[in-house]
Amino acid sequence: MNEKDENLTEDTKTENGQNGRDSSDDSYEKVCYSCRRTESKAGPMIDMPGGICLCHDCMQKAFDTVLKNGFDLSKIQNMPFLNMNLSDISKLNIPQPEIPQKQRIKKKAPKEQPSFDIRDIPAPHRIKASLDQYVIGQEQAKKVISVAVYNHYKRVFAKEAQQNTPDPDDVVIEKSNILMIGPTGSGKTYLVRTLARLLDVPLAIADATSLTEAGYIGDDIESVISKLLAAADNDVERAEHGIVFIDEIDKIARKKDMNSRDVSGESVQQELLKLLEGSQVEVPVGTNQKNALSPMATVNTDQILFICGGAFPDLERIVKERLNRSSSIGYRAELKDRYDEDPDILSHVTNADLRAFGMIPEFLGRLPIQVTLQKLTEPMLVKILKEPKNAILKQYIKLLALDEVKLVFEDDALEWIAAEAMKRETGARALRAIMEEFMLDIMFEVPKDPSIGTVVITRSYLEKNGGPRIEMRG
Ligand code: ADP
Repeated sequence: MNEKDENLTEDTKTENGQNGRDSSDDSYEKVCYSCRRTESKAGPMIDMPGGICLCHDCMQKAFDTVLKNGFDLSKIQNMPFLNMNLSDISKLNIPQPEIPQKQRIKKKAPKEQPSFDIRDIPAPHRIKASLDQYVIGQEQAKKVISVAVYNHYKRVFAKEAQQNTPDPDDVVIEKSNILMIGPTGSGKTYLVRTLARLLDVPLAIADATSLTEAGYIGDDIESVISKLLAAADNDVERAEHGIVFIDEIDKIARKKDMNSRDVSGESVQQELLKLLEGSQVEVPVGTNQKNALSPMATVNTDQILFICGGAFPDLERIVKERLNRSSSIGYRAELKDRYDEDPDILSHVTNADLRAFGMIPEFLGRLPIQVTLQKLTEPMLVKILKEPKNAILKQYIKLLALDEVKLVFEDDALEWIAAEAMKRETGARALRAIMEEFMLDIMFEVPKDPSIGTVVITRSYLEKNGGPRIEMRG
């Protein structure tokens, strides 16, 4: 018997351990015998005789194969010996299957201390002050969201208190989900991400375009809650206090002139209704595919804060037309067209405009808080480059400071970057791309020469009229 065989029989002697290791040692995680994924990737494992573990997906595949092809387990990757006794295998003169070793669980980075405790949620002005450190401009949106989040978590914990000590006369506070309207790259996702990080609540971001009515190709609506549960490390209670952000919500507007079934538009809005208002949803744990073997968890969406965001490209025209129509009647007729140049036209949006856009009234009714974000202007883009706590500029300055090189940006260079970003019409998203284009050469060349002390980025360098200004040490 070779060394491997000895190990194998030794392993089979260990009652609860895998590969001779005590299963109570939770610094190791199990590895699927078939696909070799670890527990953290494949979800909880099914323990098999002989110290073998299988993930739910492979177990399901095994069953599917059995149902389709009869009992030919050898068709499954790494499975030829699964239906044999391990001691019989060792008697055969065939290469031994290798049972994957348990793997040490990767140490997670120590968690950043949350800024707030949601159970003791700070007043809205404090939430906004924290958002101000990261999000430039969008004052009204930050204010509305701070108040909405404050009220949401007060409602959540008031409801929990009410459940513990019921009071029949208590006023029921309604859910306050949010609809966020703003152009691409104006900071919708960024605002929600920052908020979730500050509050230390799990966040799931889903794209409405990938959602389809149950039974059609695409993700079903409940996959959104699966994502949230995964973000909460499968802790149902934590997930129930989380935030779900559904982006591109404008893409599920009712389609006009459609003869076929609208599986990704109006019907998705219909299916989202029950999630938004609060319902019990059964979702698989550790995977986003439902199958017979996945353990299921019930998540109550009543306390989850839903934020839906979209650019609503044609909405400006709808609002403008309505405003111009009303101002062209009667004594205000001379004001006609005064809205044509209004950069903040979306702030006048009403439910009627959103209905004209194609959102169904029931859906809008479940998003009672509506907030609009402004299109970013050039001065705002300059601020975004340098002011937020984790501004792109600060990141580059820090990177070069680690090489003891000082990086300086001249003001008119920053203005050039902002103007260039405006041309691309993708909001602040273009800033990083532009910065990366010209910083690449600097990040490549500067560390070559230890005598370089300062690099100054000038406008003429960005306009490709020469190199950056270099100052030597000493
Ligand atoms: P969208 O509105 O399309 O969801 P994002 O939130 O994804 O836009 O914005 C893209 C990036 O631009 C963000 O990751 C963030 O770095 C930056 N950004 C956008 N708006 C702002 C803002 N108001 N303040 C600071 N950074 C911003």
